[in-house]
Amino acid sequence: MAWRASIDRLATKSELIKRGVSLPSDLCVFCISNAESSTHLFTGCIYAAEIWSRIEAWCRISPIFAFEVSDLLKLADYQGNSKVIKYILRGIIIDHYLMGRVE
Ligand SMILES: [Zn+2]
Repeated sequence: MAWRASIDRLATKSELIKRGVSLPSDLCVFCISNAESSTHLFTGCIYAAEIWSRIEAWCRISPIFAFEVSDLLKLADYQGNSKVIKYILRGIIIDHYLMGRVE
């Protein structure tokens, strides 16, 4: 799923409409102000920003600046020097956020 999100191939409203699915709107289900794409859902949406802010505080890491999903997948590589920290951060980002397990 993380890989599919990075190439914008998730079944978002924008992708479904491109494939001919009839939907009343392509607006993001959360903020209802931008087209729902993988990039928007994981990096541009105000709700995503809040989740990243909480992850920053929880993990005590520097601010997360992601413009594309691929930036998120590389994020752990640029945080700290410890392999353990990178492994844990990668798990939080991919397993809990991109896979939809954030509560
Ligand atoms: Zn949104």
